[in-house]
Amino acid sequence: MLAIEFLGAAGTVTGSKYSITYGNRHFMVDCGMFQGDPELAERNHQNWPVPARDYEALLLTHAHIDHSGAIPRLVADGFSGPILCTEPTIELCELLLPDSAKIMRLEGSPLYGEEHAARALELMEGCNYYRQYEVGPGVGVTFFDAGHILGSAWLELEFDPLPDWSKQEPVRLVFSGDLGRGLGPMLAAPDRPERADFLVLESTYGGRLHSRVSAAGQLQEVVERTRRRKSTLVIPAFAVQRSQDIAYLFETLDVGNISLYIDSPMAARAIRVFERYPDYLSRNAGQLLNEYDQLLRYPHLRICETTEQSRSILNFRPPRVIVSASGMAEGGRVLHHLRHHLPDARSTIMLAGYQCEGTRGWQLLCGDPYLDIDGRAIPVRAEIESLDGLSGHADYAEIQEWLSELESPPQTTFLVHGDEESLLAQQNRLSQQGWQVEVPEHRQRFVLLR
Ligand SMILES: [Zn+2]
Repeated sequence: MLAIEFLGAAGTVTGSKYSITYGNRHFMVDCGMFQGDPELAERNHQNWPVPARDYEALLLTHAHIDHSGAIPRLVADGFSGPILCTEPTIELCELLLPDSAKIMRLEGSPLYGEEHAARALELMEGCNYYRQYEVGPGVGVTFFDAGHILGSAWLELEFDPLPDWSKQEPVRLVFSGDLGRGLGPMLAAPDRPERADFLVLESTYGGRLHSRVSAAGQLQEVVERTRRRKSTLVIPAFAVQRSQDIAYLFETLDVGNISLYIDSPMAARAIRVFERYPDYLSRNAGQLLNEYDQLLRYPHLRICETTEQSRSILNFRPPRVIVSASGMAEGGRVLHHLRHHLPDARSTIMLAGYQCEGTRGWQLLCGDPYLDIDGRAIPVRAEIESLDGLSGHADYAEIQEWLSELESPPQTTFLVHGDEESLLAQQNRLSQQGWQVEVPEHRQRFVLLR
């Protein structure tokens, strides 16, 4: 038997987590944390379908917490198998997982301790793209470039036929993970699959197309306006990838000598990880890095790692651009900058990336007149913009391109990682092309082969 149970990202965008049963053996693909909505966060306490120690291995697509953040919980519950992922994913997890444990401890709701995060990192084994690794007898995995963040992968799992299968042929199960757009400044376009018997497909933007205006064009316009007004542009951005993308773009803009601050210790550390992996960047970015030994070369960039460096930003007069985490303004140093600049009508806040419903970033996009920060209602007078061109996720047309090299439609395609509207839109679109499409519910289990 080959079966899959959806333990997360079913009908929602967080908690990516899939339990695979092959005969009487068990594997996990991704093990992410549910984020945002408290009702969803409850699911972080759900039971595993089988005891954690019974999972032979865990395969991880990329380092984002909504794909990796529950690994230490699996480890705390007894998992001790190998965790296969790319080398940059391991290094980014070294930044993200201990930080996640620390934040939970400070918030007083720990799912696991820092020791479990450390143990999870010890179990990680680095894999290269395009080479098949044996996960266990009869099970192989190949990592392909997903172009979403540094080291991100989509996975091709191959299962040898079990004696009782009617067709004695290997079966390929493809997990898209999160798919990038191929338009980001630093990463290559995602590789495309050629064969999938079953496909688990992300649908973050299953119902939408991104604006075709380039990120550089959008950024140029807003930065130029900020410079003319001698004001401040605050960009809440994820510390990993988005902050680096923005700083990388600055070198190509025509914005005079405006100061750019990256105010995030995590982003500062992530830059050093990026600089160790030129082979995982787009050809252009990789070449520049090899040539100059430095990825971010905008001359007026200041990276603020310490609290003193962060505090000093406000001592320098505008115009200035501040890029700071977290990306949805749910925590981190960006809150301090928002508190300071939201009430100022000359400032601009530019959101960069997907904003989950209920987050402060989402509230700003909705046009809320006040934002609650640390129990105070801060009036929103600043201009709100959205930097759509830097999205880390493919839209439906780009997903269609990603699927275009498949020899034939998969037997079944499972749509995950989207809100209800996006999932249904994507289901309609693929069904019209004659595809067999399922939108799994949370904890729904499907037998793929008996
Ligand atoms: Zn992701």
